[in-house]
Parts: sequence; C-alpha cells; structure tokens
Amino acid sequence: MLDATPRDSVLERTALVANPAKTCQPVGAIYAALGVHGVMPHSHGSQGCVSFQRMFLTRHFKEPAMASTSAFTEGASVFGGGANLKTAVRNIFDLYDPAVIAVHTTCLSETIGDDLNSYVSAMELPEGKQVIYCSTPSYQGSHITGYASMAAGFITHMAQKSGVPSGKVMVVPGFINPGDMREIKHYFEEFDIAFTMMPDTTGVFDAPMTGTFEMYPKGGTPLAEVVALGDASYSFALGSCASEAAANMLKNKHDVAYKALPLPLGIALTDELVMALARYSGKPVPAVLEEERGQLVDCMLDVHQYLDQKRVAICGDPDTVLGLLSFVLECGMVPAFVGTGTPAKDFDSQVEALLASFGVAEGVCWHKAETDYFELHQRIIQQPVDLLLGPSLFKQIARAEDIPLVRAGFPVLDRYVHSYLPIVGYRGALQLLKALADTIMDRQDRDCSDADLEFVM
Ligand code: SF4
Repeated sequence: MLDATPRDSVLERTALVANPAKTCQPVGAIYAALGVHGVMPHSHGSQGCVSFQRMFLTRHFKEPAMASTSAFTEGASVFGGGANLKTAVRNIFDLYDPAVIAVHTTCLSETIGDDLNSYVSAMELPEGKQVIYCSTPSYQGSHITGYASMAAGFITHMAQKSGVPSGKVMVVPGFINPGDMREIKHYFEEFDIAFTMMPDTTGVFDAPMTGTFEMYPKGGTPLAEVVALGDASYSFALGSCASEAAANMLKNKHDVAYKALPLPLGIALTDELVMALARYSGKPVPAVLEEERGQLVDCMLDVHQYLDQKRVAICGDPDTVLGLLSFVLECGMVPAFVGTGTPAKDFDSQVEALLASFGVAEGVCWHKAETDYFELHQRIIQQPVDLLLGPSLFKQIARAEDIPLVRAGFPVLDRYVHSYLPIVGYRGALQLLKALADTIMDRQDRDCSDADLEFVM
C-alpha cells in the first residue's frame, strides 16, 4: 500500500497534487443547493461532471443526490453552452417541476467563457419559477468554496427586503452533516432565538425511509424564508471559510450585520457560540447547555490518561480541521500534522493562534493549507503518529503505516450512519471523544502483552 511514497526524505514539490485532500467546487455547490427546499441543482458542463459530483455526495451520505446537467458535447464545448442551458432549463421545469434551478459552472464552461448572467437574463421562465447561478470553476478552490459561492448565490439572487423586520437571524451552518445542523439548531432553540438556517440539509440527507421516492424531500430551508432573509435582524456564520461569504453578501445587499464564529467543535469553540447567543439574546445560558458541557468535561477527565500526549495527524476541510485541532488540544493530545487541501488564506495563521493559546511550542506542529495526502504521508513516515483524524481519504496511510484512523469530516465514504451523528457542540464532542478514546484503547488492547491485558481500564 502506497509503496511509491519516498521513505527516506520528504520530496519537495511546487506543482502537482497527489492524493488530493479536497474535491471539486460543484460538489459543494450541489450540497448547498440541496439545502433549500424545492431546488434542482444544475451542473453547467458535461454529463461526466454531474455523474461524479452526485456520486461523491451519495457515497458520503448514502442518500440520492439529485442534480441535472447541461450535457455538453463537442458542439457546446466549441460554440458555447447557451443553447444547452436554455433547453435544459425548459426540460427541467417541464419534467421535474422545481421551484428554482440553481446553476453552477464547471471547469469546461468556465474555460470556454460561458456567461451565465447573459444566458439566464435572456430566458423566458414559467410563471413563479426562478434560475439562480454561481461561478464554480474547479481548477481553483475546493468543494468548500463551491458551497460558499452557492450559499452566497441564494442571497444574491433571492433574498429581498420588504422593510418589515422578520425578527429572525440567519444561520449559515457551513459544510457539515445534517446531524451537525440539527445539533446547531438545538443551541438557537434553547436560547429561544428565531432563526432561518440556510442552507439546511436536515430532512434532505437524513430523511427517514418512507418507501416512497420524493424528488424534493420535506427538508431544506423553505424558499419563502430564503426570500425573507433580507428582513433578518442579524446573521451568524459558523466556520468562516464556508459560511462567511453568504453572511457578507447579506450585509452588503441588505445591511444585515453578522458575526463569523468558528465551527463549534470542542469546549472552547462551542463556548464561543454559546456566549455569542447569550449576548445576542440577552438571556442567561440555559441549564441544559450547562449540563451538556459538564458531562463532556467529566468524560474528558475520565479518559484523559489515554489521550494525553498521543500524537495525531488531522486533515480535512479548514473549518472542521480548526475545530478538531482545538478539541484534540483540549484533550491533551499533540497535533503533529494539520492540513487541508482547500486554499484557505487564513488557515495557517488560525492554526498558529490556536497552538499559541494552548502553549504549544514552535516546531511541534507542522501545518499547511493546500496540502495533499501524499505530502502528509511522507511527513508521517518521518515522524510517526499514534492516530489519524479526518476523512476516509486517510485510509491508505492508516493501512500502509498501521495507524488507527478516526473518521470525521467530509468525505466519509467507507462507513455508515456518521452523517446522522454530530461532532459539533458539547454532545457532538462527546461522541468524538468516545471515538478517539475507543480507538486508542482498542490499539492498546491489541498491542499489549497477555500479562498486561486489562478487563478494567
Ligand atoms: S471536470 Fe472540473 S467540474 Fe467537472 S468533475 Fe472534474 S473537477 Fe469537477
């Protein structure tokens, strides 16, 4: 497994990505679009693009991911995809009857310079229907920037100000699982803050089995609420890389102030969300959240002896990785390698700020944005770790180096149920803590001598 990775030194590269730690922008754009009810995501490119993008989401969520395509062939590639898009929009409204078609571009349509603004402005749409769009060329950015662009696209094209305040706040949850979104809603509900979560994939990617296929599952942000976001009183963007673009767009377009917070993962970052909600609402912290926090602290103390000083490598999406980093530091672990494949300009400075706040000495943690699993593997060979924490993409390194892997983030392609179970908030951290401790203790049980095998740990 991974036998070609150099074992004696770290090969320096200035070009070429090997085993990428990200996927293409439209994957994120489709995920965001499916988080608004009654929307058909549309990939303006070749059939191969949308096949890949839908398959990737389906393999993570184990649920169908609907999306249509402009079905580029050689003709569209040479003469432009305007005619294809026009035909596609007519057919999609006729056959699938969405309320909105959310178009994103692809590598091909961007390279040939297709102008979605002029294409869509020239279309005659059925009464009450809408086409929105955003730019997602995949030779830059990642699925995270694609998600951010589509979330901002909903604000650009749909949010309106009536002048009558809705009394609601907008919550942009970031590229997280529906189980995490449910957990974040729990915090706003406990503070009794009226909110619209946008996008919201609960009830879409975690819809119950009913035996009946629904093209548009019951979940997702209601369209009327997306339109009313111009009347929101405030916004919370959770995870600046994936969420701030939408909040910033709402501020620029309708003068709605916002607060960008880290993804609430672990104690300190969840505390940040809780205190921000307490300040916004003017209410004391609800007893139920204090109780959940106390339970988490209790369990962290219980397992601290097993996690303390364990070396861990973390990779994944920038907002998620920063949260995971904060939590492993709270658990007394040593983050030896921290990386993301997304080109996030503040990633390294945010990692350094976190490390400094925990007093981690310089040189202990190697970190990098726009890295890949090949580079991480080379470094892990040189300085082995006790645990890998991140997506399934770590799996080959785990096997090659015989290192246990705790799966978290996106994509998790080789396990089930994970997208229903949160890792955010105090209760999410509790599940993550269990996974970390179980994995380390299982390894101890496997490797110890017969004399050292303990029933009571
Ligand atoms: S060609 Fe570009 S947009 Fe299409 S699937 Fe590949 S990376 Fe994504």
